[in-house]
Parts: sequence; C-alpha cells; structure tokens
Amino acid sequence: MSDLKNFREEIRDWLESNCPPEMRQPVKDEDDVCWGGRNFQFKSEAQKTWMERCAAKGYTVPDWPNAYGGAGMSAAEAKIWREECARIGARPPLSSFGIWMLGPALLKFGTEEQKIHYLGQIARGEIRWCQGYSEPGSGSDLVSLQTFGEDKGDHWVVNGQKIWTSYADKADWIFCLVRTDKTNKYQGISFLLFDMASPGVSTKPILLISGNSPFCETFFDNVTVPKEQIVGELNRGWDVAKYLLGHEREMISSTGGGDRAASLGSAVSRAAALEDPVLRAELALFDVDALAFTAMSEKFMDEVKVGKGHPAQPNMMKYAGTELNKRRLELVMAAGGSAALEWESEASNGGSSARNWLRTKANSIEGGTSEVMLNVVAKRILDLPGA
Ligand SMILES: Cc1cc2nc3c(=O)[nH]c(=O)nc-3n(C[C@H](O)[C@H](O)[C@H](O)COP(=O)(O)OP(=O)(O)OC[C@H]3O[C@@H](n4cnc5c(N)ncnc54)[C@H](O)[C@@H]3O)c2cc1C
Repeated sequence: MSDLKNFREEIRDWLESNCPPEMRQPVKDEDDVCWGGRNFQFKSEAQKTWMERCAAKGYTVPDWPNAYGGAGMSAAEAKIWREECARIGARPPLSSFGIWMLGPALLKFGTEEQKIHYLGQIARGEIRWCQGYSEPGSGSDLVSLQTFGEDKGDHWVVNGQKIWTSYADKADWIFCLVRTDKTNKYQGISFLLFDMASPGVSTKPILLISGNSPFCETFFDNVTVPKEQIVGELNRGWDVAKYLLGHEREMISSTGGGDRAASLGSAVSRAAALEDPVLRAELALFDVDALAFTAMSEKFMDEVKVGKGHPAQPNMMKYAGTELNKRRLELVMAAGGSAALEWESEASNGGSSARNWLRTKANSIEGGTSEVMLNVVAKRILDLPGA
C-alpha cells in the first residue's frame, strides 16, 4: 500500500512540474483535442509539449508494456494516474482510435513484430487511425459486409465501400474488415491494416445535423494490401473485430461521464433554471444517476482487470453511458433556456451547447445502437429467448 502511496506522490509531483497550465483547462471544442498523426497541427505549444512529455514517459498509454511505448503501470497504478490527472483537470495528452480500439486488439492478436511497430507509433501519436467496419448495407448486421479482398499471392487487392468512417479524411491508416472468403459468413472476414495514402483509397465527407462533418464515405478501388498487414488469422477477423468492439463500447460509454469533475447541478449557471422545482429535481436525479454510473464503471473495470468481467458488460455500459449522456445534454438545453439554442455567437461559444446536444443523438448509434445493445443484454445476461 505504501508503494502505491509513494507512486501517487511521484505522479503528483511529475504532473505538477510537467502539465502546462493551459492543459489543465477543460476541453472547449474539437480543436482542443490532440489527435496526433502525420498531418496533425497542434493548436498550441502547450498542447504539443504536453503530448510529447507524456509520450516520452509512456503516459499516453500508461498500462501498456514499456516495450510497446507504454509506462508498464499495473491496474492500480493506472487508476492512480487517472485520478491524479482528474484532480488537476489535466486533459488527455492524446486521443486516438489507436489507443482506444486498435491497440488493445493488437496487444491480444498482433504478432510481436506488429506490436513493436504499430503500438509504438500509436503511443507516440505518430499515426492517426480510422475504423473501416460499417458499409451501406451492413451496420447492425455487420457480418454481412461485402468489401472484398482478392488473394493475389503475396497481397490482396481490395475493392468496396465503407460508410460513417469517422475522420477518414484525416486519418493516416485504417483498420478494416474485409471479406476474404465469400463462402463463409462469419469465418470469411479478415482484419487488415493499410495506409489511407495507398493508391485507390478515397474519402467523401458526410455533413451531420450538428453542422460538423466528422465522418466520411470511404471507397476502395483496387487497393493493394501486403499479406503481412493482416491482424490475427486469415478469415478469423471477426474474432478481432468483436474484441475491438468491446473496447470501443467501453470507450463510448465513458460519455456517461464517469470522470467529469463537476456535477450538472453545480454547472448550471442560469439562476432562473434552479428556481424551477421540477428542473431542479431532474438535475439532482441526474447527478445521482451519474454517480451510480461512475461507481458501476469502476466496478466493471476492476472486474475486467482481474479477468472476471462478463463478456456482455461493455454492451450494458455502452447502453447506460450513452443514454445518460443524451439525458445530460437534454438537461443542459432545458436549463439554458432559449439562449442555449443560439448557434453562432461568441457568447454561446459558437453554439457549443446546441451542437453538443445534437451530437449526443449519435452516441446511441455509433459503436452499435442502443436496441442492439439491449438485444445482447437480453440474450447474454438475462438469458431471454429469441433476441
Ligand atoms: C457518429 C458516428 C460515428 C461512427 N463512426 C464509425 C466509424 O468510424 N467506423 C465505422 O465502421 N462505423 C461508424 N459508425 C457507424 C455505426 O457503427 C453504425 O451506424 C451502427 O452500427 C448502426 O448501423 P446502421 O447505421 O447501418 O443502422 P441499421 O443497422 O440499419 O439500424 C437502423 C435501425 O434499426 C435498428 N435495428 C437494426 N437491427 C436491429 C435488431 N436486430 N433489433 C432491433 N433493432 C435493430 C437499429 O437499432 C436502428 O435504430 C458511426 C456512426 C455514428 C453515428
């Protein structure tokens, strides 16, 4: 225990000396997020310094092994790292699909060579990844995907289309589900990695209701993918895909707000809102539910770390976290009154409340819809028939 106490002090001292004051301010908008990658433009010197200092210590991925760019922290140490960052309001030094999704899948299914090569790049923020799963005819029923990789000996030639590919136009590489055997639905898919700058890859942004355009249609026209860029076994990519989805769902569930420091009640500044007894009661109820969700998340994380997690837990958390986040923004809008609908002024910070509110509508779709999450919970946790 005293080791952990010392460790906490060490982390606290390091953060005090290394986290720039600007990086202790809440993230205001997309520009504040450090995504890394070949073409990433840092918003400020402080953002760059913070990412580089953390990457040098392995703190962008604290619980990954040192050999792969991490800090080799135990589960208990990584928790202390998160708590100490939250205590001073430190922003994540690096946000990345590589960290949240591909990394855990590579740690489980990658070859030693792949781990050394790709995980290091992810930890240092050198490569930005996107996820090529959904297709125009294959969303919830992902296993019906049609993008095809034709075997050409030492490489595949990939043709097809993906959709809703978040940040495909900004990403350097893609982790992509490709059919490599048309005769077997589940065991005919492979998990391939390739460079978005490969000849034959093109993207077309899709505009969202919030006015932003974070995702794209992605087209593959005779794209060459070397055979060594497969993760896991040929035609067994579905196993990798499902494992990765568990991590994606845990990540999305955190929108439920486990680590948000301020309660929603205390964040509401419009006095008139707090005079409304119904709204006040809803805010209080929300804060209680958010605390319960945080406790649930911590319990699940601890269970996962000791190998006792139920495989359907990420589905349950994804459902609860995203529905909670939708409720949070409904309340922010209600408490903000008509001013919260403001779309463009400086006073509304470019309509951030309204845009965030509209963005939450996608939370219960991305990474698998709430209906599909409930189906899994019904079948695998409640043991109900026919879901
Ligand atoms: C913001 C955002 C970002 C995304 N980013 C990515 C990305 O980076 N990469 C990627 O590959 N994909 C991405 N997606 C796509 C996402 O994974 C799909 O939208 C999702 O899986 C649902 O698929 P779909 O849109 O085809 O809807 P559909 O599967 O067509 O579903 C339509 C409706 O039918 C319901 N439904 C479908 N099947 C069932 C069932 N069996 N039981 C009950 N109801 C059902 C659904 O719940 C939904 O309400 C993103 C989506 C969003 C919104």
